[in-house]
Amino acid sequence: MDGPIRIGISACLLGKSVRYNGSHKHAPWITDACGSCWELVGICPEVECGLPIPREPMRLEGDPLRPRLVTVETGVDLTDTMLAWCARKVEELEEARLSGLILKENSPSCGLSVLEIFQKDGVPIKTGRGLFANALLSHFPLLPLIEGDALQEATVRADFLEKVTDYRHPQESLRKSQGDSD
Ligand code: SF4
Repeated sequence: MDGPIRIGISACLLGKSVRYNGSHKHAPWITDACGSCWELVGICPEVECGLPIPREPMRLEGDPLRPRLVTVETGVDLTDTMLAWCARKVEELEEARLSGLILKENSPSCGLSVLEIFQKDGVPIKTGRGLFANALLSHFPLLPLIEGDALQEATVRADFLEKVTDYRHPQESLRKSQGDSD
């Protein structure tokens, strides 16, 4: 894969005011450390699927294997809206030539790991993944994904960059690993 390194990123980490309360979660350790060498492509699943700013916050509920995306106060189930958008978006991203994605942690849409899924008794269990993150993993199983918080560590940034490089140049990566095992 030639050309600039294009990395998708949850738009709120870029400083876009797209969160449910109209705020952002700008991550300068990403935009300052990586923004000059990567082309960062902002994506906000909740806004792009048609929800307004501001909007009611959401959470995941029910079966940890097939959680529902539900608004916290009025209980509106937005799962089908989000899943339909995810299906269209992953098809669109095939053309975007992304080499990795940085996702906002603790989001029922973007969160990659250890997300709370609320049960009928109101008690959360921590096993979930945001619906967009899940769609990305299913559609692009080899694409490097990471949560934005983790990139505060320089060693984690270096490791992610290596994965991105390997993803862009799989043949080179294969030669390197074969050389390592010889
Ligand atoms: S976490 Fe994801 S869905 Fe939520 S505001 Fe940020 S980009 Fe949008």
